[in-house]
Amino acid sequence: MDASILLVGGDDLLPTLLERIRDVVTCTLEVVPSPSEAVPLIQAQQPDVIILQSNQLESLALCRQVKEQTKLAWIYCIVLETSLSGLSDDRRQYLLQIEARASALENGADAYLWLPQTTATGEPLEREMLIQQDRLLKSQILCGLRMVQTHRELIRTNDILSAIALSDPLTELNNRRALDWELPRQVQNSRMRLEPLSLLILDIDFFKTINDTHGHAVGDRVLQLISSRLRHNLRFRDTLFRYGGEEFVIILSSTDEMEALLVGRRLCRLVSDQPFSIDDTVNLLVTISAGVAALRADDDPKGTSLLRRADQYLLRAKAEGRNRVIGFLDDCEEELGTRG
Ligand code: GH3
Ligand code: MG
Ligand code: MG
Repeated sequence: MDASILLVGGDDLLPTLLERIRDVVTCTLEVVPSPSEAVPLIQAQQPDVIILQSNQLESLALCRQVKEQTKLAWIYCIVLETSLSGLSDDRRQYLLQIEARASALENGADAYLWLPQTTATGEPLEREMLIQQDRLLKSQILCGLRMVQTHRELIRTNDILSAIALSDPLTELNNRRALDWELPRQVQNSRMRLEPLSLLILDIDFFKTINDTHGHAVGDRVLQLISSRLRHNLRFRDTLFRYGGEEFVIILSSTDEMEALLVGRRLCRLVSDQPFSIDDTVNLLVTISAGVAALRADDDPKGTSLLRRADQYLLRAKAEGRNRVIGFLDDCEEELGTRG
């Protein structure tokens, strides 16, 4: 098992502890002398296991800090109690030990180990006791590593499932669920940064005819080729989604409507200018129509009204002959009588 362990400990503990855990797993072992020095290292390297000393000031505060941060909370924290002497019937010793354990767990530690270094009278521990202590320490570390490994596997599976849930299998574009998630985020960002936001809806013209004439497999291939052509011609700040059957949405962040119209027109030309080569015998000329809208102050935070407005302009683009982009600015031009 590959693993990384961070040891936070004072000089008295480290030399023996290092020897004890060195053969537990093939692991990277980092050592820092105090909790305050451990913080930047934990943030940067996110070790699997942290071992702390309960007698070090700030050890429990560090535990709490780790557990309070969602992206670090899975790190397994073991608190070691080495300062209390062992093997005493003394009621006071017993209570101290119980209190220390409770306090460690309350502060977020995943495990608390009492590993006395001497007997109650200050004598060194017998060899058999040291052997059993090592066994306990190693098994606790392995227990932590197993939990961290399970957590990492869950995160990986979760990432894969999210990618599947948010992508369209045919075109490999972001799907409509991804749009539902992304659009409100973009609306919020645009309002926070006081930057414009525009949106394009594109729809393939007479796509049903392609299916009817050449079959669904060819229709599918056209969808893939158009998706790929659009994807490879976007600016870095544009995000493309397959919205439905033969419809696409592009969110254009930091883009006003004038610029969005230009992007839309460029994409329309890009689709219509070059035929799509299905195989040696079939080359298809395809056009798309698009509606464009820019975010307004009275639009809802989810972007529903923005999307609806763009869709209405798309319908107009269809009605006015297809293979074109229409938006609010076209209305203005019409009012001014500047359109041909
Ligand atoms: P318009 O110019 O008005 O948009 O006409 P159109 O034919 O493109 O639009 P219409 O809505 O009449 O037809 C869309 C067609 O797209 C119907 C549907 O069968 C087809 N379609 C939707 N999804 C897929 C798909 O994943 N693969 C294939 N091959 N066809 C699809
Ligand atoms: Mg359609
Ligand atoms: Mg269509």
